[in-house]
Amino acid sequence: MAEELETTEVEAPQQEHEPEPPALDPETAARRAAALAHVRKFGDPVLKSRALPVERFDDTLREEIGRMTAIMRDGLGIGLAATQLGVMHRVLVYRIGEDASLAALVNPEIQWSSSDSETVEEGCLSLPGIHVDVERPLHVRVRARDEDGEEIEIEASGLEARVIQHEVDHLDGVLMLDRTTREQRKQAMRALREAAEAARAA
Ligand code: ZN
Repeated sequence: MAEELETTEVEAPQQEHEPEPPALDPETAARRAAALAHVRKFGDPVLKSRALPVERFDDTLREEIGRMTAIMRDGLGIGLAATQLGVMHRVLVYRIGEDASLAALVNPEIQWSSSDSETVEEGCLSLPGIHVDVERPLHVRVRARDEDGEEIEIEASGLEARVIQHEVDHLDGVLMLDRTTREQRKQAMRALREAAEAARAA
């Protein structure tokens, strides 16, 4: 079995990895790779840890948010939690689509979520190449503070609600793998293991 796999890889190296979604121009791809190098990947214990509330709304926090925003943008992500950069603060940023405004939520708390839910495939910058179905409430109401400490309340639906919930999960040490089916989790773990082995062999 193992031999068979190796032979296949030698004969068809282009089949080794999943095809990358839409090819990026080299500059964008290089910027993305540089950004993703800062993102903690699956297996890193910080991704399983709970972040602490922010108490000081100072320049350090605003710099942290600026850095998160830049990494999310260059990494072509739509959301990022501070824990993904190894910073144990309850901070998340997101932007749904290029024309949308950037949102930064500090100490976010989901106050209410709808009983109607939807199952949609998710990805995660900490789990490159992995996509799993996750069922989440369609609507949420979130209370948080902005980067200056002002209280804000957001009502979000659809993709925005989904991204907020995914990132709040990160702040609690919860990954999308913890919220998918047992079967998809198993498949994802296998793919991650194979990718790690391939990286070691390279
Ligand atoms: Zn994620």
